[in-house]
Amino acid sequence: MPSPCSDYPPDLSYDQESYLLSNLKDWSIAHGLAVRPAPTFVHASQDPAGVLATTAPVTLFPSLFPRACFEEGLAIQEAYNELYSAIARDEQWLQGIVEELLDIDDFVSKLWQTHLAVKKEGYVQDLSLGLFRSDYMVHTDTSSSQPSSGLKQVEFNTIASSFGGLSSQVAALHRYLLTIDAYPSTATSVIKADALSQSKSASSLAQGLAVAHKAYGTSKSGLPLCVLFVVQDPERNVFDQRHLEYALLEESAVRSFRLPFHETLSDTLLDASRTLIYTPPNSPSTRYEVTTVYFRAGYSPDDYPKEEDWSARLHLERSRAIKCPSILTHLAGCKKVQQVLATPHSPHLRRFLPDATVASRVLATFAPIYPLDQTEAGEEAKKLAADPSTAVRYVLKPQREGGGNNIYRKSIPTFLKDLPKTHWPAYILMEMIEPPPLKNAILRNGEVQKGGVIGELGVYGVCLWKNGTGADEKGEILENWEAGYLLRTKGDQSEEGGVAAGFGAVDSCCLV
Ligand code: ADP
Ligand code: MG
Ligand code: MG
Repeated sequence: MPSPCSDYPPDLSYDQESYLLSNLKDWSIAHGLAVRPAPTFVHASQDPAGVLATTAPVTLFPSLFPRACFEEGLAIQEAYNELYSAIARDEQWLQGIVEELLDIDDFVSKLWQTHLAVKKEGYVQDLSLGLFRSDYMVHTDTSSSQPSSGLKQVEFNTIASSFGGLSSQVAALHRYLLTIDAYPSTATSVIKADALSQSKSASSLAQGLAVAHKAYGTSKSGLPLCVLFVVQDPERNVFDQRHLEYALLEESAVRSFRLPFHETLSDTLLDASRTLIYTPPNSPSTRYEVTTVYFRAGYSPDDYPKEEDWSARLHLERSRAIKCPSILTHLAGCKKVQQVLATPHSPHLRRFLPDATVASRVLATFAPIYPLDQTEAGEEAKKLAADPSTAVRYVLKPQREGGGNNIYRKSIPTFLKDLPKTHWPAYILMEMIEPPPLKNAILRNGEVQKGGVIGELGVYGVCLWKNGTGADEKGEILENWEAGYLLRTKGDQSEEGGVAAGFGAVDSCCLV
C-alpha cells in the first residue's frame, strides 16, 4: 500500500469516536444495515417476539483498496459469468469432475443424484439464472525486484451469494459519515468523495431476478406470477435479502415471497405440467405461479437434516420455475472445479473461454490450487499438506459453502492424519494469499475492535442463459453483467472471513 496511507485510519479521540459511532449506529438501523442479533448477544428469552435488530458488523472507515485491482475485478466479471455459465451447460465435463467425488462426498453425490433424477424425467425449464460472486484478495508479489499487486481469486460462489443487499448500504454509510464530517481531517485527505465507490449490488442483483421473472413468460396456470426466495429459518442475515426483495418490488414491480426451505413441500405444489404453485400460508385462497426460485438456502448439508429435505430440492428442481441456481450451476461452484481450472497448462479454461485475451485475464487471477488425488501433482501436494513445515503456506478446502469449513495452515497435517486416505481427494489444497497489511476498526455486537485487518473483495455477476439440448448444442447467454461489489474485512488474526459466520465485517472500498 502507498506510504502516505500508512497512518490510515487515524486514531480517534474519545469525542471523535463517540460522534462517529452514534451517527453510524443510527444511520445503519435507519437504513437496514442490520442483522438479527446473535443468540449469544441477545438470548431468545430477552426477545421472545423476535423484534430486535442490531447494526451488522461493519467497519468504521472504508478500507484502502488498490484502484487498479478493483477495476480489474469488476472488468473481468462478465468473463467469469460466461465461464461458469459455460461450465454449468457442459454436463459431460462436470460429470467427469463430480464422479471423482461421488463415493467420498455425500453432499455432492446427493446433488448429482437429484440432477440425474430430473434429467431422467426431462427438464422442463431451459433457462438458468446465476447471481454469482467472485471473491478475491490482493496478493503482493515480492519475488521480483519491483513488487507488484494483483487480484487473486479466493473462490467463486454460484449459490446464495450473500451481502449484495448490505454492501450497497455500507458504501452509502461511509459516504454519509464523510459528508457529516465524522472523519477527522487526517482521514479526509485519503477518503475523498471520488475515492469512495458506491456498490450497486442490491439493485443490480434484484434486476437479475427481474429479467429471469420476465424471461419466464406468461402464466401457464392463470395465477399471478411471483419470485420465491427459498431461505433458512431462522435467518439472521434477513435484511440483506430483504433489500433485494424490496428493490425487486420497487424497481420492477415483481412480487416475491420468502419460503423457509423446510416448508417447501407444504407450501408449494407442482401441477400436471410441473408448473410450481405457491400458496402463502397467511392467505391460502390466493395462489401464485412461481417464475423463479432463488436459493438462499440449500447450499449446506445442514439445510437437509431429513430425507424429506432432499425431496423438497428435487421437487423444486423438477419444476418449470427458473432456478437460481440450477443443480448443475450449484455443482459448478465446487472448489474442485476451481482447482481443475487452475491446473497449469490445462485446456479447460480455453474450452469455456475461447477468446485468448479474455481467458488470460481470468487466468491471471488464479492462485495455485492442487488436488489431493493420485495424479503426480496430487502426490506432490499430499506431501506438502502432510508436512508441518510446508503446510503453513496452505488452506485445505472441502466441497462446501457458507464459511467455517476450511482447515488452515498448521492444522492441516493433524487433520489429514485422522482422515482415511481414500477421502483425501474430497479436498483441495490452496496456497494462502497474503494481502498487504492494513488497519481498520470494526463495530461488532456494540464493541469496537481495532487493529490489523485483511480485506476480501467480492464482485457480483448476473447471468441468464438458455441451456443447450446436447453435446453439439450448448445453449446461449441471454443476459450478462457485472453487478456491483462487496468488501468484507476481518481481523488479521482470523483465518476465516465470513461475516455471517462471525468473523468479518462489511466494508466499502476507498480506492487508492
Ligand atoms: P466458503 O465457500 O466457505 O466461503 P472460502 O474458500 O471463501 O470458503 O474460504 C473461507 C475464507 O477463508 C475466505 O473468506 C478467506 O478469508 C479464507 N481463505 C480461503 N482461501 C484462502 C486463500 N487461498 N488465502 C487466504 N485466505 C483464504
Ligand atoms: Mg463460498
Ligand atoms: Mg467464501
